[in-house]
Amino acid sequence: MSRQTLLTPPDKINAFKLYHREIWTRHRFYHTGINLPSSVRCRLCKTGTEDTRHLLSCSTIKSIMGAVMQEISPHTPLTEPFMLCAAIPALGGGLTLAPPGIVAAHQLTWKFVYSSFIKADLLDEPFVSSYVISAINYRLRERLQGYIFRANLDTTLALGAGRPPREATYIAGEVEPLLDEDLNIKYSHLKPQHTTRTPTPPNPHTPARDQRS
Ligand SMILES: [Zn+2]
Repeated sequence: MSRQTLLTPPDKINAFKLYHREIWTRHRFYHTGINLPSSVRCRLCKTGTEDTRHLLSCSTIKSIMGAVMQEISPHTPLTEPFMLCAAIPALGGGLTLAPPGIVAAHQLTWKFVYSSFIKADLLDEPFVSSYVISAINYRLRERLQGYIFRANLDTTLALGAGRPPREATYIAGEVEPLLDEDLNIKYSHLKPQHTTRTPTPPNPHTPARDQRS
């Protein structure tokens, strides 16, 4: 059992909600009568009824999941079990949970997909796939950097205390396949950007300076 601590509980909550069918879709809003949407058609791909089942096969969401997995897990089939809970085909048949780093990327994908998804209807903000993807990668990079710092600190403390490092031997395995044995980020799109320091990813909802009069 992994004790992966890469993500915080708020990073994981939307994947958890999806699993328990607690995502507020247009279909769910309609049938609870809380808020009657003008249509139950999917707000992203505009085809199909927007319910939990649809979200697992929605072409817009799948293209985002595909972009996130493109480098870290290019052969992962974006099946319904994978979209729902990061389940992948097991060697001996049946399904198994993807490696912990893939699970973390999956959970972050639902976090940012859902936060932009809900704003598309409630705040009338455009859903911009490229922004969602860069927010996911940005957050994953940020979490990995924190994780590496913690692992290195553990190694330093162990050396100082004259004990073998408790965690460093298997710590990369906890976020497999995102880090190598030396705790370096393996994938270039997740490596720290050394050019200009940007505190947050660019937000397409903020007008660019040169467009202002
Ligand atoms: Zn859709």
